[in-house]
Amino acid sequence: MNKALINIDYTLDFVADEGALTCGEPGQAIHDKIIEITKRFNDEQDFVAFTIDKHQAEDAHHPESKLFPPHNLEGSEGRKLFGDLEAVYQSIKEEEHVYYTDKTRYSAFAGTDLELKLRERGITEVHLVGVCTDICVLHTAVDAYNKGFEIVVYKDAVASFNLQGHEWALTHFENTLGARVV
Ligand code: ZN
Repeated sequence: MNKALINIDYTLDFVADEGALTCGEPGQAIHDKIIEITKRFNDEQDFVAFTIDKHQAEDAHHPESKLFPPHNLEGSEGRKLFGDLEAVYQSIKEEEHVYYTDKTRYSAFAGTDLELKLRERGITEVHLVGVCTDICVLHTAVDAYNKGFEIVVYKDAVASFNLQGHEWALTHFENTLGARVV
């Protein structure tokens, strides 16, 4: 089937207790579900993309510098994938259908070649997991909608530090972006 999993920002900085910009408990609670979904896509030889925020320290020109504390800095421990996802990624990263790209904006499509990778493979449906529901997952979903991809969001595999934002985004995916929230 022509579908892809997009793993968004499930890193130590965004999920671990000591993370620089952490979702905390809600982020940790989706760990097992993200692992399960990632393994399933890999087992079925579907395209698995890891799209992971990358920043430079003291980047005065980056718009997030005014909004958030430094996070996911290049080469830092905080940029590693959280929990067992790092080991899962390490064990499958050489597979032809597994892809990793740095991103520097909220959307996985902004400034990356993710769309080219999807189009080359005839992929028409993107499945989203990761954090934060109402920031990077949301912006990725909006871009996917505008580019004409079908969208599936796993409500037990996305999370945010903002519960209200999380719940609003789930409604928005379904009612406004036509996503299947499963
Ligand atoms: Zn960022």
